Amino acid sequence: MRKEGKSAPWQKMLGDSVVSAEMLGQWFDISTEALAPVIRRYPMRINPYFLSLLRQSSDPIARQVIPDPRELDENGFTQEDPFFETQRSPVPYLVHRYPDRVLFLVSGQCAVYCRYCMRKRNAGLKKTVGPLDVEPVEAYIRSTPAIREVILSGGDPLLLQDDFLNDILSRLKSVSHVGRLRIHTRVPCVLPQRITISLVDILQRFAPLYINIQFNHPDELTGEAANACAMLADAGIVLGSQTVLLKGVNDDPDTLAALMEKLLACRVRPYYLHHPDPVKGTAHFNVPVEKGLHIMENLRQRISGIGIPHYVRDHQGISGKMPVSAKPCVQNGNRAFDDCQGL
Ligand SMILES: *Cc1c(COP(=O)(O)O)cnc(C)c1O
Ligand code: SF4
Repeated sequence: MRKEGKSAPWQKMLGDSVVSAEMLGQWFDISTEALAPVIRRYPMRINPYFLSLLRQSSDPIARQVIPDPRELDENGFTQEDPFFETQRSPVPYLVHRYPDRVLFLVSGQCAVYCRYCMRKRNAGLKKTVGPLDVEPVEAYIRSTPAIREVILSGGDPLLLQDDFLNDILSRLKSVSHVGRLRIHTRVPCVLPQRITISLVDILQRFAPLYINIQFNHPDELTGEAANACAMLADAGIVLGSQTVLLKGVNDDPDTLAALMEKLLACRVRPYYLHHPDPVKGTAHFNVPVEKGLHIMENLRQRISGIGIPHYVRDHQGISGKMPVSAKPCVQNGNRAFDDCQGL
């Protein structure tokens, strides 16, 4: 295995990220006084690659990563952890919500901090899984035969060092009832330079390996991002995308149709279109369910079935992520579009 030294280009890029209101003010006409308190509460990170995609502070790419004073608005959503992930954690860093699969939150670090993140409560936590934390997680998975799939998430798992990631994947793969591994990441989109030959060499040993990448806008599929996806797909990794429906970013059919077409061209199969989660500090990204349904209708008429993601929304009950459908909710006798769990 080729080792990556401390100064791999992608690590240098992370180190050169825009992290303060003053730094951001050198690039955009923003109010540093208004943004500084937001950044103190929820850290900012815009790495130089992603920064190069921003044209102005209010464009759809910029809105995802530039802080907004509305994040501190107390009148919006109030819960930091609406799906009780913290309570569903049998051992630190593990979320066991569905019987057959677990989330292993391996990193508190991301290559950019998305302002709408559902795990905003964890953004930038210095605490990232260390070698000693992996053992209890492995032991829990080993002693729970119902678990068929382990999903590495975070933070971003692909920000771990190659050797450590290799070690984690090897331990999980060695559990006989774990049939497949999955990684949830934004790295191929927001820091494609991290998809190195040595990383791909490691990943390709863990087939069947599924990687779901979060892409939200067609302009994110640059030559670099397309190349990162091609390297992964060539290594036999099955690629999917998870897109978050976000007000002012992608809440219109033209943008999403263009995104899905580009994803298919890059061998990334659209998987989920996520309705925004009701997380504290993100209410300004919310979109009405009716609008999401309308967009889906439009997509179905204009693009191939292989380009249509499932439009899903998370629920507090055990049912978890459920397709959003236009079926009125007979159970409750009201017109809620989104609470027809089990129907
Ligand atoms: C989203 C999620 C999963 C994965 O769900 P899929 O529908 O299989 O993509 C697993 N565990 C938790 C806690 C989740 O939130
Ligand atoms: S990369 Fe994912 S976990 Fe990290 S801030 Fe963005 S949405 Fe949240």
